[in-house]
Amino acid sequence: MFEHVRLPEILFPDTCLICRCSVSASSGVPNLCRHCLGQLPWRTKDLVLPWPDELARDWPSDPDPSRVNRMGRLVRASEILVACDYESPVREGLLALKFSDASEWHRLLAGLLVLTVRRQHKRFSAVVAVPLHPQRQAERGYNQAGLLARALAAELMLPDWSAWLQRTRRTERQSALGNRQARLSNLAGAFTWTGPANLKPARILLVDDILTTGATLAAAAEPLFQHGAHVTGLVVASSHHSPDTGPWPGANPVTVN
Ligand SMILES: [Zn+2]
Repeated sequence: MFEHVRLPEILFPDTCLICRCSVSASSGVPNLCRHCLGQLPWRTKDLVLPWPDELARDWPSDPDPSRVNRMGRLVRASEILVACDYESPVREGLLALKFSDASEWHRLLAGLLVLTVRRQHKRFSAVVAVPLHPQRQAERGYNQAGLLARALAAELMLPDWSAWLQRTRRTERQSALGNRQARLSNLAGAFTWTGPANLKPARILLVDDILTTGATLAAAAEPLFQHGAHVTGLVVASSHHSPDTGPWPGANPVTVN
């Protein structure tokens, strides 16, 4: 019965962060027992979302139409992957990651991202985290998306290019703003890519903890698209607390089984 259990797990078993049992048989996700793995609010619909239309349609201000068209094609050819609904116990895990206990929870939550990526059967080139503004990161002491990206990159054996995506303009807190258009305006141009100028044909996983209106993820993706990368968004959970965001997310999703 121990055929899938490695010796360190027998000697030093993980504690499941959800039920607090001692994990005797690995679920494949750190700090999570098999029972709780099956009880999580896994996304059953809309687990693959399109990027917001604005990214392809309204944002490009590039005077070269061929570059605008290229970005539009990249945006329309890619998508956002969502692991779980924003419900208990994932919700409590994300709150702990952000405010109290990142050291334990980031491994579990990154494990959920790993499973979500592997379900897609697609190959990626690198992982990038949605960055915090340096001042906010100094206040918190870490970037929660950065912790997820680092653990994800290690597990998938991909390079972590997070240091090359920077938040160069401090913005209003998104939660203080109303609809998605206001959030997009707040964030437009707030992110800068400082890595290689030509990213083609890189396929980048852009990682964040929570998706609400998609504005933050879209703003962070924009410079990556502009440098020629395919960008697949990847988040632990999505909440739908944005009544005035129109048909996205949820309507007209790309369906993948
Ligand atoms: Zn458990």
